Amino acid sequence: MTNDNDNNIESQSIDRYIRQDRLPHIWCAGCGIGSAMSCFLRAINRAGIDPDKVAVVSGIGCTGRVAGYIKLDSFHTTHGRAIPFATGLKLANPELKVVVFSGDGDLVAIGGNHLIHGARRNIDMTVICVNNFNYGMTGGQVGPTSPFQSRTTTTPYGNFESPFNLPYLLSASGAPYIARWTVLHMRQLEKTMAEAMTRPGFTFIEVIASCPVTYGRLNKEPTGLDSLHYYQEKSIIRNGADPKDAGIDLRGPIIVGKFVDRQLPTLGDRLSEVYRKAKAQAKVSRP
Ligand code: SF4
Repeated sequence: MTNDNDNNIESQSIDRYIRQDRLPHIWCAGCGIGSAMSCFLRAINRAGIDPDKVAVVSGIGCTGRVAGYIKLDSFHTTHGRAIPFATGLKLANPELKVVVFSGDGDLVAIGGNHLIHGARRNIDMTVICVNNFNYGMTGGQVGPTSPFQSRTTTTPYGNFESPFNLPYLLSASGAPYIARWTVLHMRQLEKTMAEAMTRPGFTFIEVIASCPVTYGRLNKEPTGLDSLHYYQEKSIIRNGADPKDAGIDLRGPIIVGKFVDRQLPTLGDRLSEVYRKAKAQAKVSRP
């Protein structure tokens, strides 16, 4: 069911945000990344954000290609370093709405250090992490979010490592806003992205997305549609759930919703306070 606001947003085309000259895209048939990107572009319309004030930063990997397809100020950066690039952008121009759009391998493996420190510092940016449970672009290797016992090209007998529970990791690191949806939940995902982009601080959204070609074919989801059926069957909407309960087991339930929404001082707030005090002190000590 849609309301008037939804209908207005529907009528606003997202074509203007896409670099048509870069098409066709490289994503495989049934890949969920395009759906996540589409939600993000609609979310810009929904949030009423001036697109000239948005900067999108991606790292390396299938999801990292998003930066190349978006006709906004966008940066396709080095592997795992999207958050440091985004931090520099935000500090240099606090007026920008900075969005990091990257995959689980990029953000949580090689970039994992930046992810937790970005959250700890509460840097004012939105991080959209498309989680398809493996390194898709490089051939389907196991990654830090591959579920226990899932099969990948480097774990043919099943993953024997414990994966990260991303909402729990981000919550423990101090992120003030944490949500998760699958690419089946297009409407909720769009609304959450719009909300996250208008909140101060390090807002984090995990998007569970299909990767039929590398992860899916080894884990009973050989088509994008199989993944959507799985999400439909196993997703449980639980807004306000404790992030520690949001771990994902192989083909087990997927808890989705908005888990954390709290107000905490951002890095920018704290820096401003330091400058204010330093300025006041300089005035007092001036002869
Ligand atoms: Fe998508 Fe997986 Fe293909 Fe990469 S390898 S484009 S994540 S389906």
